[in-house]
Amino acid sequence: MYRIAHIGDLHLESKKPEDYSLAIGLFTCMQKLKANHIVVAGDISHRGEEEVFLYIKEGALTSGHKISSELSVVIGNHDLPGRHHYQNYFGKTFGTRILREGRIKLIYLDSTKPSSGEIFNHSGELNQEMMFFLEQELKVPPEVFIIVVMHHHLLDVDGDITEEMQKNPLDLPFVGNFGPLENAASVLELLEKHRVALALCGHTHHITSEIYGNQLIISTAGAHGKHIKLYEFDEHNKMESKLLKVCTSCNGLGVDYDEDAESDDEVVACADCEGCGYEEQ
Ligand SMILES: [Zn+2]
Ligand SMILES: [Zn+2]
Repeated sequence: MYRIAHIGDLHLESKKPEDYSLAIGLFTCMQKLKANHIVVAGDISHRGEEEVFLYIKEGALTSGHKISSELSVVIGNHDLPGRHHYQNYFGKTFGTRILREGRIKLIYLDSTKPSSGEIFNHSGELNQEMMFFLEQELKVPPEVFIIVVMHHHLLDVDGDITEEMQKNPLDLPFVGNFGPLENAASVLELLEKHRVALALCGHTHHITSEIYGNQLIISTAGAHGKHIKLYEFDEHNKMESKLLKVCTSCNGLGVDYDEDAESDDEVVACADCEGCGYEEQ
C-alpha cells in the first residue's frame, strides 16, 4: 500500500502560534496514517512570512517532530509575498517527483500570477512556460499513474454555504466570487488527452471531488487543517480515496481512521482522542 495525503490552505501566520500547533497535529496525524507523501496544495502561509516556511520545513517536519513522510508544497497566491522564502525552503515553484519507484509521477505546478503583485488577487493561470513544462512531463508510459498538483482550481465551485461556514468567514468557500484557473479549459483538455487520473488543488477552501471527462478526478482539499484527503494505492497501483475529518479537540492527533468506510465518505472524528486506530494492512 502506498499513501498520499492531500491538504491545503493552512494560511499560517506567525502572530497566531495556535495555528502552528494545529499544523503539528495535522502533520503528525498524516504520519500516523502512514502517508508516504504529503501534498500541501498552496497557501500554507497567509502572508508569505519567512517564519512560516521555516517552521514547516525545519520545525514541524524535521528536528522537532521527526515527520518522515516526504512533502510537496505548491505555492499559492497568499504565499506570493514570500516567494523567495518559499524558494529558499522548498526549492523551485514547479517540478516533478518520482514516487513509488517510478510507478507514480507527481507534477507540481506554479499557477500564481506574480506580476499581479498582491496576495488577495485570486486569479491564477498556467502560463506558457508552465503549459510547456506540463506537456513535456505528461509524456510517460501508460502504466505510470500521474498526479498533477496546483493551487488554483480547475472547475467552478458549486456548493452550499452552511450556517457553520457563515460563523467563520475564513471557512466560506469562494462560491461565485471568481472562476477557476483562467486557462482551465486548455489545461483540462491536455490532462484528458494524456489520461491523467488525478489533479489535486486548493484555493477554494471547499472540499470537492469531481470527475471530469472519462476518468480525471479533480479534488480540492478544504482549508485550515480540518480535513485530510487520503489516496491509497494498492499493489496494482489502483487508487481509492478517503476523506478524513480531523478531530478538533486534539488537532488531529487522535484521528480515528475507519478502514471500512466507503470511499470518499467522511470518516467521523475521534470522540475520545485515544489515538489513531489505523493499522497497516
Ligand atoms: Zn487559501
Ligand atoms: Zn489561494
